[in-house]
Amino acid sequence: MVSSKVQNGWVAGGDAEDEQPVKLILVTGGVISGVGKGIISSSLGVLLKANGYRVSAIKIDPYLNIDAGTFSPFEHGEVFVLDDGGEVDLDLGNYERFLKVSLSRDNNITSGKIWQQVIQRERNGDYGGKTVQMIPHVSGAITEWIQRVAAIPVDGSGKRPQVCIVELGGTIGDIEGMVYYRAFDIFKRPTHRDQLMSVHVSLLLDPKSTGEAKTKPLQNSLKQLRAEGLNPDLLVTGYWGPRRLQHLQGSSPPPGAERPRGYCGQAEAAPMDPSAALHSTPNMFQWTQLSELCDTPTAVCKIALVGKYVRIEDAYASVNKALKHAAIHANRKLRIEFVSSEDLEDGADPKAQAKAWETIKSCNGILVPGGFGDRGIEGMIRVCQYARENKVPYLGICLGMQCASIEYARNVCGIEDANSIEFDKNLDPVKHIVIDMPEHSAATHGLGASMRLGRRMTVFLTDESKLRRLYGKGAVEERHRHRYEVNPKIVPVLSRAGLLFIGMGVDETTTMIEADRRTESSAALVKMANSADNGFAGEEALLAKIDRLCERGGDGVTKTAVRMEMIEMKDHPYFVGVQYHPEYLSHPHTPSPPFLGLLFAASGQLEAHLHGKNPTPMDLLAEHGPHLA
Ligand code: GLN
Repeated sequence: MVSSKVQNGWVAGGDAEDEQPVKLILVTGGVISGVGKGIISSSLGVLLKANGYRVSAIKIDPYLNIDAGTFSPFEHGEVFVLDDGGEVDLDLGNYERFLKVSLSRDNNITSGKIWQQVIQRERNGDYGGKTVQMIPHVSGAITEWIQRVAAIPVDGSGKRPQVCIVELGGTIGDIEGMVYYRAFDIFKRPTHRDQLMSVHVSLLLDPKSTGEAKTKPLQNSLKQLRAEGLNPDLLVTGYWGPRRLQHLQGSSPPPGAERPRGYCGQAEAAPMDPSAALHSTPNMFQWTQLSELCDTPTAVCKIALVGKYVRIEDAYASVNKALKHAAIHANRKLRIEFVSSEDLEDGADPKAQAKAWETIKSCNGILVPGGFGDRGIEGMIRVCQYARENKVPYLGICLGMQCASIEYARNVCGIEDANSIEFDKNLDPVKHIVIDMPEHSAATHGLGASMRLGRRMTVFLTDESKLRRLYGKGAVEERHRHRYEVNPKIVPVLSRAGLLFIGMGVDETTTMIEADRRTESSAALVKMANSADNGFAGEEALLAKIDRLCERGGDGVTKTAVRMEMIEMKDHPYFVGVQYHPEYLSHPHTPSPPFLGLLFAASGQLEAHLHGKNPTPMDLLAEHGPHLA
């Protein structure tokens, strides 16, 4: 096995393989979508990584949209945002979390992107007068794209990956997927054969607990796969029993089921031997340790997630995961209570309303996540008021921070009917608590690309802040996706009244900021944030900085505005809002600090933690346990 691994170029470490093409693992799905292709793809990646390989991932979504930016969360679940501002399928979030990589927008292929490229080339005359066809032009564009993107370094080492997992969305046989199979034809040539491994994830159904799972749907999906010229080197079957008990397992079927390998018939003849890569002792210590930590806690921490897309769990996929990561590290068993914010509004069904409040009151902490449009906003504002008045730990993300600011303006600063321009366009400008960012306005850029997106820097204006201590550094980089922000004209007013704007941000993406290329305002921000406090001390110094930074306008080019990024309420155990989405960079091993703060506060451990008396299990591990890459 080892020799076949070496022969085929599956050599971990060293630089010699940099000359070799990146190996591809194509993961396809059979029978129905949702059988676990994403989990299998991520897991293969984790195992390969643990064996020393540099791994990347590509997700193919064969729909015609250019990207996920315009999707409704009701239909597709969350839109995931990358460092470069790419708005992509949420599977890329799983890859980033499992493989600890930073992917780019090109790691999400859509038919929209491919078609657009091919049509643009045709318009440019690049095809030299030929008829442009699905094969070879579209299929060729796909092959080229995959090979180019597979070689982009993603793990911070600057080295190109050795293996790239390519997950093809949808199910084998979908009309949208057809041309993608042709893109892999090149790997049937003897010269390329060892560059592709084909993994098929399919389903065994056991409708009646007869002790015998039905293999017919699986046989059919394999037949279709073979018809596309892709024989699986590895077959993974999900098993859905009578109660739709879903075990995802390797090619060994549940007891009583026939061995699907018989139908696959290809495992022995595989050009690469995946088991060689997977069977050597993998360095899985961090993961096994983590899974033990997941099982230890007994005390429950209940968090109310109050939003408008709560009917679809996937709509808040990264938020749910970030809460879970934080709970593991706060040693608590997490229970998320999903509450529809519309149920909290006037005119809601009284029974639903009573139940929603009862649920909220039973929770230890509250989170209002991101969102768009005016539906459910008043309910979110109410829950902010409840959290403020009752000193319940609160985390507001993006829209959740904007709602908290509106609530404070209305009920603490006495600005009646204060609102966001997103929800009330005809309002008196002095009541606009949340306004357009001119540099990103939809009016000038169109809906598809009108947001402030991607990874940007936020600088803390004070050391006296819980968030600052949770992050453990003076400047942080997080990912954004928003069109509006809290009005800099009102920020000094809110801050003086006790809603402190403790962090402000720069407008350019972090990938653009090299010290010498900083725009005037980001350089000014960093300077001002770190400046001596001109005779002011403590909170007065912070307020003076806020005043100066909020006075700055921007011209959107060399002088971009300073952005309002973080709030922290005075005299409250934990009331925090962030304009960015910290959930996108949360990782099972390194939970996102604002989420960790929420879980600590909700379980009465925050003060001890901030005073260094309450190390997380992972802190202890880092101190005493084996050190791992
Ligand atoms: N709708 C708000 C904005 O565009 C909030 C966006 C969000 O929560 N992601 O600014």
